[in-house]
Order: sequence, then C-alpha cells, then structure tokens
Amino acid sequence: YAREDHYPGEVDGYLMDEYSPVFPIGIDASVDPTAAFMGFPWFEREVLNLAKEAINGEALGKGDHPDLLFIGFSAMDWMIHDYGPHSQEVMDACIKLDRYMGNFMEFVDKTLGLENVMFVLTADHGGLPLPEYLVEKGGSGGRINQKHLAEAIEWIDEECEERFGKKLYHREGANYFLDHKRLKKANLMPDHIYEIVKKYLTNVDGVERVAIKDDILKSTDKDKTTLRLKNMIHIEKTPEIFPIVNPGYLFRGPYGTSHGSPYDYDTHVPLIFARTHFKPRVDTSPRATVDIAPTIAKYLSVDIPEYCDGSPIDL
Ligand SMILES: [Zn+2]
Repeated sequence: YAREDHYPGEVDGYLMDEYSPVFPIGIDASVDPTAAFMGFPWFEREVLNLAKEAINGEALGKGDHPDLLFIGFSAMDWMIHDYGPHSQEVMDACIKLDRYMGNFMEFVDKTLGLENVMFVLTADHGGLPLPEYLVEKGGSGGRINQKHLAEAIEWIDEECEERFGKKLYHREGANYFLDHKRLKKANLMPDHIYEIVKKYLTNVDGVERVAIKDDILKSTDKDKTTLRLKNMIHIEKTPEIFPIVNPGYLFRGPYGTSHGSPYDYDTHVPLIFARTHFKPRVDTSPRATVDIAPTIAKYLSVDIPEYCDGSPIDL
C-alpha cells in the first residue's frame, strides 16, 4: 500500500554508498548500532518489553487504586522524519508496531485481565509527507532553499546593524529572540527589528508569513491558524519573531521530513479508546488530545478540575 521503495527525499542509512534509500534499512558497519537503534521498529518492541517489566515490577493494576502507565513509541517519529509517512519503511514499522502492541495486550490480558484495563492511543503530532511526494501527487510543497534563507538572514543582520547597532537579538535558525534591554537602551521598539526580519524572510520561497509572539498571544482571532499557534507557543520560551512556512513546505533538507506547523497534516492525530465492553464506533466530530485526561477521569469517577482545558468524551 505504500509507494515505491526507492524514492527521492528519503534518508539513506548507508552513507558510504551511492544514494539508495531502499528497504530494509541498515547502517554502515562503522556506526554504533545502539546509537542508531532508536530509528528502527525494534525500538518499540523493547519499549513494550520495558512496559511489561514496569507492570510486573511495580505491580501496576494490582492494588485498590487505578494506575496510569504512559508508553511513548518515539521510533515512529524518527522513522517518519527519515522516510516520510508513505514509505515502505514506515508501512513495515506500522505492521510491526501493530504486532508488538497485540503481543503486549495479550500480556496485559494474562496479567491483569482486559476487563480491568482501558487503552488509549494517540499522538503528539502528525507530520508532513515528503514534499517530493506531495508534488508528485499534484499538491504543492517544497524545501526552503537554504542558500536563499542564509542570504536573507545575512541581509537582516546587515540592515539591523547598519541602522540600529549590533547584538539586538539572538537568532536560532530563522527564529529571533530580542534583547529587550538593549532595544530599550537604544530607544528602539521591537517593531523596528520586526519590520526588517519580515521584509527579508517573507521573500524566501516557502515562507508564508512572519509571526510575532505578542500578536499571537494577544489575538482573540478565531482564525484556525492563529488559534493553533496560540496553543502551540510558550509564553516565555518562544522566540519573539518566527517564520511560518507555506503548507507543504519545510526547512529540513535535502532528505526527510518534519512537523511543527499549524496545518492539518501536523495537527490531525488518531485518538482511540479501547476497552473490552466498548461497542466499536467511529466518531468524526472534532476532538482534541486535551480531552483524554477528563475522559479518563470521568470513567474513574474522579472530579474534573475547572482549570482542565478539555471536556470528557462519551465512549
Ligand atoms: Zn519529530
């Protein structure tokens, strides 16, 4: 069901060889396998083995009070970063993960009885297909040209230095953290820097807009993108000025893909609740991962505090 195996844009683990990102993926003999282990499906199998040890070792589910066990399948994120979601590699990883989880559920059934357990499966983000694949399918997308981006960053530095002076901001990638003390001393408004950054970055192909943290925090706009950005950023740690890519674009190149945009492909995640006596049904109404905690609380007859963002789902 996945696309052809040799596909441009996929990472090739054999760096010493000619570019050939084909399945099964291996690593060069010189690479320490334990360092590369995280990028393979077997990582999830070992995580589940660890989960079994935790259940036994901590006697989870045996006492009078309910226990929560969180299991993170992070190798899937790594593999999708490297090969994209439609690859043979990720299809194989999904088939393997499905089996590993089936095996884990059998263990839970034997140890605790499935009637005593609720499983919840979700993800903390989605991801962008390889832009090469998007384009082939008739969509739009691409990789930000690193040379153009580097030029834009240089011009921003030059103009800011020339007009206002040095070291007024700290930059990470194309994200800007302003030095408010220095700006104040030089009698400058953040807008002075913002206008320059915006002028050059929005000229880079694939950059849709340049966002300002304050505007996003202040916005009461119900615009989907703004609202998602508002939910996504950190009130203190987020850079003050940061570029937002066009849908389908990413900074990573020349291989692999990423996530972190406010678009549907990044924010749409599965949400599955499973328990032996639940009647199978599909609910397509919009729900959010913040609904998980109140839903579990409801089924445990625990009061849901008012500060809780989500609302319980009727399962
Ligand atoms: Zn990731």
